[in-house]
Amino acid sequence: MKKTDVIIIGAGVSGITAAIYLKRAGVDFILIEKYMPGGKIALTSTIENYPGYKKIDGFELALKLQEQLTFNQIAITYENITSIKKDKNIFTLKGNNEEYQSSFVILATGTKEKTLNIKDEEKFISKGISMCAICDGALYKNQEVAVLGGGNSALEESLYLSSICKKVYLIHRRNEFRGDDILLNKIRESKNIEILTPYNVVEYFGEKNLNAVKLKNIDDNKEIKIDIKALFLYIGSEPTYPNLEFDISNENGYIITDDNMMSSIEGLYVIGDVRKKILRQIITASSDGASAAIAIEKKMNRM
Ligand code: NAP
Repeated sequence: MKKTDVIIIGAGVSGITAAIYLKRAGVDFILIEKYMPGGKIALTSTIENYPGYKKIDGFELALKLQEQLTFNQIAITYENITSIKKDKNIFTLKGNNEEYQSSFVILATGTKEKTLNIKDEEKFISKGISMCAICDGALYKNQEVAVLGGGNSALEESLYLSSICKKVYLIHRRNEFRGDDILLNKIRESKNIEILTPYNVVEYFGEKNLNAVKLKNIDDNKEIKIDIKALFLYIGSEPTYPNLEFDISNENGYIITDDNMMSSIEGLYVIGDVRKKILRQIITASSDGASAAIAIEKKMNRM
């Protein structure tokens, strides 16, 4: 059993920010990550709306965050936390390798990508269906692919894929896009992105690997089939976190916090995309991390 004052679960941008602030405040903590530091930004192609950088690759920014952890002598514990319970004022976290106890927990576990849940989807995941253009895009160099979704992720990743692939179909269920106009304008100017709206993907085709999808027009129900080697799903995401062995206030799974990032459970702070909030951006994730760390430091000083 490892004991500390604060446990941060998740080393995305919000968790890393909290760790830097706690370290500088001299607070004892453990930073736990399941996969790799950087979270979703490590899987993002290009970031153009983070102050200080006109344009930076997501992976490069993730590396810079890691460098900052090293510079601040903050180690990451690689572990999958499966459950959290609270007895009196102590949290106990069960991991695959170890158990942990702390007075405070900062949950920074983010979101996981949604899928369509239609026939054969499971079969084609990693065999043509992907949720990560930056990881898998290069596999489809000079081939025809499609992106599904109308948010910023779909728009950004369509642009990224258009620089590698022969052609990119951008499929969206409405004629209006949720994503930013600046990205949409770039897409409209692109020579190898074709926008297909308003369409739903209704069927997958292929033997071992995906080779086509059927689309159904939402206005007139007409169906078309397009030949593609890959479909990148960017249809939003849902909150993800370990099994919480207590009731917590949430809205559709997104955890509700106060201005200091504390949830309805005293001592449990929630930051980044997993928190119920209006704007999910690097800068708001970072802001959440700083707020939670400062609030915890103040609370510890009063204890
Ligand atoms: P999102 O904004 O929630 O967009 C999801 C898209 O998928 C929507 O266009 C939605 O259509 C569509 N969709 C949902 N379910 C679908 C289904 N079953 N079939 C077909 N289409 C479906 O998700 P996101 O793009 O991943 O972005 C998540 C958050 O991160 C947002 O707040 C976004 O602004 C932010 N983000 C920001 C940046 C940036 O600022 N550079 C980059 C990436 C992400 P409808 O529009 O019809 O609902």
